[in-house]
Amino acid sequence: MDWMQAMVFERVGAPLAAVELPVPTPTPDQLLVKVHACGVCRTDLHLIDGELQIAHPPRVLGHQIVGVTEPGGRRVGIPWLGWTCGRCRWCRGGQENLCPSARFTGKDIDGGMAQWTVADRRFCLPIPESCEDIQAAPLLCAGLIGARALRMCAEALGPAGTQSNLGLYGFGASAHILIQVARHEGRNVLAFTRRGDADAQRFARQLGAAWAAGSDEPPPEPLDAAIIFAPAGELVPAALQAIRPGGVVVCAGIHMSEIPAFRYELLWHERSLRSVANLTRADGEQFLALAPEVPVRTHVSTYPLERANEALEDLRNGRFTGAAVLVVRA
Ligand SMILES: [Zn+2]
Ligand SMILES: [Zn+2]
Repeated sequence: MDWMQAMVFERVGAPLAAVELPVPTPTPDQLLVKVHACGVCRTDLHLIDGELQIAHPPRVLGHQIVGVTEPGGRRVGIPWLGWTCGRCRWCRGGQENLCPSARFTGKDIDGGMAQWTVADRRFCLPIPESCEDIQAAPLLCAGLIGARALRMCAEALGPAGTQSNLGLYGFGASAHILIQVARHEGRNVLAFTRRGDADAQRFARQLGAAWAAGSDEPPPEPLDAAIIFAPAGELVPAALQAIRPGGVVVCAGIHMSEIPAFRYELLWHERSLRSVANLTRADGEQFLALAPEVPVRTHVSTYPLERANEALEDLRNGRFTGAAVLVVRA
């Protein structure tokens, strides 16, 4: 039997354990993939902290995987959505992201913080040729979720090229990709960061934000739409306060702290508040085709696989701008 290195979730609150596991054997529906790079996501922190439950530990985390098939040597991306039933009303209605039986990579099935992984071939995505492994990994969750959230703002923002103000709350991996897409569409982007986070504000301006400040500051003009990436419930009333009548606030995170009570006036005048959940395969194909056109350039801090815990703690403490990616050696 062949063995591999993997970083494994064992229990809530504990760092990931570096272990040796057998190289997985693919079923006929699966591809065996040699992992080259795996992005780190805030969802991984929610899993480690127990804010999202892993039903059957131990589990290999990681759901932004770029690697090559063995055999075949074809480059593929493996995203968060790992399997759906194909039969329920959501699967049949173009909303497989909401399938109640869905299995998610790095949560319900083993992910990419390992030298090898297997994935259902129907859920693997093509990686644009022009994009290197390390640059591509953050597109698979941070990029995809942001793009789905932006689509939910389309009505409030108007067609591409319309003079429109988009607010991004939390300027991490997702926002740094999404701002590039939004600027490509001609949107005016306003970035809201943690209070006093001058690095993130500078980074946002470098990427084309018209304005960047702490999330406690009101924007200079009302927003047409706002996307909340930070997992902080108090941003919901703040964003509702910042949007115009008829505007939308989209919550893009998988977990958020409790939303404080707020006055109905904040929602009145046909403002709307919604969430986005997961992704569909169509989202993946569309976004990965769009990314090289923009072109999206991800800003990446790399760590070797065995330093996954350090990458996660740096993410928790806001120690880098952009995205973190684990580089996996053979
Ligand atoms: Zn289903
Ligand atoms: Zn993610």
